[in-house]
Amino acid sequence: MLNPFFWIKRASHRRWFYLLILVVVALALGVGLPHTSSAFDLCGLLDGDAGIEIIQLITISDQQEVELGKCLNQQEVAQGLEIYSGRKITEYVQDIGKRLIPYSDRPNFPYTFQVVRNNDINAFALVGGFVYVHTGLLKGVENEAELAAVIAHEIAHITSKHSIEKLRQIIKDKNLEVNSEVEYGTIINLLEDIAFSLPRGRQQEYEADRKGLEMLHGAGYAPSGMTGFLEKLTKGNTPAMLRTHPEPAKRLDTLNEIINKKGWDPNDGDGLDSDAYKQRIQSLAIE
Ligand SMILES: [Zn+2]
Repeated sequence: MLNPFFWIKRASHRRWFYLLILVVVALALGVGLPHTSSAFDLCGLLDGDAGIEIIQLITISDQQEVELGKCLNQQEVAQGLEIYSGRKITEYVQDIGKRLIPYSDRPNFPYTFQVVRNNDINAFALVGGFVYVHTGLLKGVENEAELAAVIAHEIAHITSKHSIEKLRQIIKDKNLEVNSEVEYGTIINLLEDIAFSLPRGRQQEYEADRKGLEMLHGAGYAPSGMTGFLEKLTKGNTPAMLRTHPEPAKRLDTLNEIINKKGWDPNDGDGLDSDAYKQRIQSLAIE
């Protein structure tokens, strides 16, 4: 009964509002809810009115996107995504993220950078500014410039709203009408598939590379951080990353073309000191 459904039709807006009032009153009176609400359901409830517009993906607001991201993050953690709690390393990743953000095309959006305890060389982004870096990636890159390049690429997926774009496409492919009813859970699960299972669109990858490279260069990192990491992907020993990031060789060529065209020196910039980097992540070695 309380599983939140969202309708596009504004006529339903009021019905949802009354349901929300009912729940708030029930909670205030200490009355038990008829069905147990999981954290997942509560995410929907907390969204309230915003949920109605979530399905109107064309007009999704930044705030709604952040709410979706928070719910998805909550769901992933509940399902076993292990957030690494070491302060030094987490702050290091956050600092790199903060250095890149001003050079993105959504500099005022709220981002959350987290480290995931997982030995696969991987990183990913969810809607709403959530960026995740695996401990395996931290150990697998050569230097800070490579790490910054991967983070920049993931930020670019968020700034370009790639997940939302894909969500719109999937909903369209399912032939859902504008006035069809879509469970909030369906949206969250689709976003989960988009993040973890479905390969990104080719154009989305090239766009994230291009914007990521610009961010990297703007923040003063050496552009070779990005090409160096792509070279690793071409060697094929990063299956987790390749699952969602196909065609590394072609992407590498395209990046080199951009660097040439811009007249940038690939090795001009910060982050190439491999020894300094190993020092920064030393605390991971004793994990
Ligand atoms: Zn990507």
